[in-house]
Amino acid sequence: MDEALAVATRCEGCGSELGPRLLTCPSCLRLVHARTLQRLAAEAEAATARQALTEALGAWRQALDLLPAGTSQHAQVMARVEALSRQVDVAGAGSSADSKSARAGMPKALAGLGAFGVALWKFKFALLFLLGKGKLLLLGLTQASTLFSMLLAMGVYWTAWGWVFAVGLVASIYVHEMGHVAALRRFGMQSSAPMFIPGLGALVRLKQAPVDAREDARVGLAGPIWGGAAAVLTFVAALATGWKSLGAIAHAAAWLNVFNLLPLWQLDGGRGFRALSRKERWWAVAAVGGAWFLTHESLFVLLLAGATFRALLTPAPEEGDTRTLVEYVGLVLVLGAVGWLAQEWTGAALAM
Ligand SMILES: [Zn+2]
Ligand SMILES: [Zn+2]
Repeated sequence: MDEALAVATRCEGCGSELGPRLLTCPSCLRLVHARTLQRLAAEAEAATARQALTEALGAWRQALDLLPAGTSQHAQVMARVEALSRQVDVAGAGSSADSKSARAGMPKALAGLGAFGVALWKFKFALLFLLGKGKLLLLGLTQASTLFSMLLAMGVYWTAWGWVFAVGLVASIYVHEMGHVAALRRFGMQSSAPMFIPGLGALVRLKQAPVDAREDARVGLAGPIWGGAAAVLTFVAALATGWKSLGAIAHAAAWLNVFNLLPLWQLDGGRGFRALSRKERWWAVAAVGGAWFLTHESLFVLLLAGATFRALLTPAPEEGDTRTLVEYVGLVLVLGAVGWLAQEWTGAALAM
């Protein structure tokens, strides 16, 4: 896409000189990136024919960036992006081949639980993914900016809590961020590699915007889902080895992910809440209240206040999204349980 933007300085239709960000020639109204758009459309059609939904989605999204908003072409391509995004969502994986085999293996008992069963089944895949072929996990590490900012963050945590804790905490933040990256890739969106901000966490910058609240919620909650899976694994490892440091890491990682579920601003929880109807938001409030009651963790009071505010006072869509609610409630309960268990097991409360 960058190469196309750099080359197109003269209109291929009338020869007028074009500004770098123009999408339409002001003289003859020709689309500046007509040729790239043709190529992208052909790629997208070919990918669709092969049932490579993520690839098709990626090509259409790139095309969307090259089309002026408000035109009929823009609207048409947007409709395709939305339709494909929903298909990817249902498929639950990058290609239909993957997802069919994944769903085929799903036990009947889980299938009977509906959206909750699918969420559990997916959580299993997240665990397997983290344990096994985490190719994507290594990918982010090849970026110099990620690695450098990661080491810087590690240094900050190291001086505060020692090296084992520093390495563990940074690793769990990294897994959380790669959850976002995996979801972005699944929906064919371009993004930066994770950047660490010492003392605060890390972030992934989006280069393309989600097309609707549902997509935004999937990408937003993918971070805590992966981060939660990492916290569970860390706690299991702590139990298996009896190593208290691992327990402390699991504890900190769980609360860090809970904090990200705060349904405000650009935090992951805020992005999830945008897709929830008012009624669904009250269910989330109930789950957070329950988690607070059971764990007495003051962080949940913050979430409770945020969620109540969003349920009462901010605009909500008429039609909600069950899967987002299941993911959010599941995260609150799983993270609450792991955080609390790890805290009890470690025996010492951490000053976070
Ligand atoms: Zn022209
Ligand atoms: Zn996040």
